[in-house]
Amino acid sequence: MSVKDQYQVIQSKIKEACTRSKRNPDEVHVVAVTKYVSTERTIEALAAGVGHIGENRVEAGLEKKRAVGNQGLWHFIGSLQSRKVKLVAGEFDYFHSLDRLSLAKELQKHSVDEVEVKCFVQVNVSGEESKSGLAPNEVIPFIEQLQAYPAIRVVGLMTMAPFTDNPEETRPVFRGLRELRDQVASLGLAHAPCLELSMGMSNDYVVAIEEGATYVRIGTALVGNETT
Ligand SMILES: *Cc1c(COP(=O)(O)O)cnc(C)c1O
Repeated sequence: MSVKDQYQVIQSKIKEACTRSKRNPDEVHVVAVTKYVSTERTIEALAAGVGHIGENRVEAGLEKKRAVGNQGLWHFIGSLQSRKVKLVAGEFDYFHSLDRLSLAKELQKHSVDEVEVKCFVQVNVSGEESKSGLAPNEVIPFIEQLQAYPAIRVVGLMTMAPFTDNPEETRPVFRGLRELRDQVASLGLAHAPCLELSMGMSNDYVVAIEEGATYVRIGTALVGNETT
């Protein structure tokens, strides 16, 4: 299927999920995760009207961004090494994996013209050892400490659910992230409005949307996977 056709399928599933959960579909943004596919496929996604592109590697992501003529909004969704921050500063519109102060410090140091860097704090809701992110009880103290870095704006929280054949099993993880998001938002911190939820991938985005996702990161089901 073309990216355009896949996008239509996804959009109708998003609408259905929003109807079931009494949400407005305009609140749900699709990030096309292009880490497994070529620049051509990325261009197809942009042409189909997907406005957000997600990449998890610094060099490959930047190469693709240049190749498509810097169209779209770019999301860095991988774990970011502090020493590579200088390469991505001013290049990506969103960072989904803020999980330590050393990274905040680097992002601050390399921020361009004091433009705020929009970050999601990554949370390991499931507690799986293989997943990165802060434990839920570390999130509020961490976000409070981020006040020391004026370039950092916490737009929301991000998580990855454990992979499972039954997406329904991921629901408690997504619900947990939403509850934590609500707690952070209720603190009313100027640097951390924290209204967004980056959660849901090809396998589980429908459940994530029912639980409040505002950014779903979809690779395989949208643009495919050319590496398998
Ligand atoms: C690869 C990746 C995705 C997309 O995965 P699919 O299962 O192909 O949709 C989403 N989020 C992150 C953080 C990823 O690394």
